[in-house]
Amino acid sequence: LVQIRRVRKSFGAHQVLRDISLAVPAGTVTVLLGPSGSGKSTLLRCVNHLETIDGGRIIVDGDLIGYRQAGNRIHEMTPRQIAKQRANIGMVFQKFNLFPHLTALENIVEAPVGVAKRARGASRARALELLDRVGLADFANHYPAQLSGGQQQRVAIARALAMDPKLMLFDEPTSALDPELVGDVLDVMRELANDGMTMIVVTHEIGFARGVADQVAFMDGGVVVEVGPPGEVLDNPQRQRTRNFLESVK
Ligand code: ATP
Ligand code: MG
Repeated sequence: LVQIRRVRKSFGAHQVLRDISLAVPAGTVTVLLGPSGSGKSTLLRCVNHLETIDGGRIIVDGDLIGYRQAGNRIHEMTPRQIAKQRANIGMVFQKFNLFPHLTALENIVEAPVGVAKRARGASRARALELLDRVGLADFANHYPAQLSGGQQQRVAIARALAMDPKLMLFDEPTSALDPELVGDVLDVMRELANDGMTMIVVTHEIGFARGVADQVAFMDGGVVVEVGPPGEVLDNPQRQRTRNFLESVK
């Protein structure tokens, strides 16, 4: 579903992504691991064109992301075209970024009604289903401030799912949570994976990677150092840099 080919990205003189290639088949989960500053968030942000890229290409479900080709020239898409592509790609951040003045239900309904112009009634019904799916059926009318961090993050996941994305991107979705709240969020993500969602997940939760990932990619210094099934990358890493990193997150 996702093809990342030879992607390069610099901020000024600092080359953050050097030559990244990665394929994510439909219905599979890829976990991205790597030290701080290795470019994981930047790569995710390139996949939904929150960042422009300097070279290479990213294709999601057959669509070139962010750019269109006219003859020999590549142009950035219009904001409208970019927004349309982004609707297919759900993103969940470390910080949940819910609208504080909207209830859980209203947060979920906001994009389908406000952006996709779907009917309010149907969108509310679907939002209630999604809240049930993330274990929060009884919290529809709670405001973010009345929810725990883990509950807020599950609302954020439901909100991303409300646009019926083909792909879900997670950037350290549990690293801002108290340890006792992490499990519920990982459970929701695990179920989503079991239901066949295609996911790219940046996380240092090695247990989740081992149990849920189809492939694990270890990034360092803007390159994918090593990629393969979790049993290989996590349990029998071939590269010293991978071994050092795994030692540090144990
Ligand atoms: P972490 O584990 O800390 O989240 P990361 O692997 O997600 O790290 P990125 O956030 O992708 O790393 O950052 C990679 C590098 O790019 C860092 O050196 C960062 O300072 C730099 N960087 C990221 N965004 C920008 C930006 N908008 N402008 C300038 N530099 C940036
Ligand atoms: Mg990051």
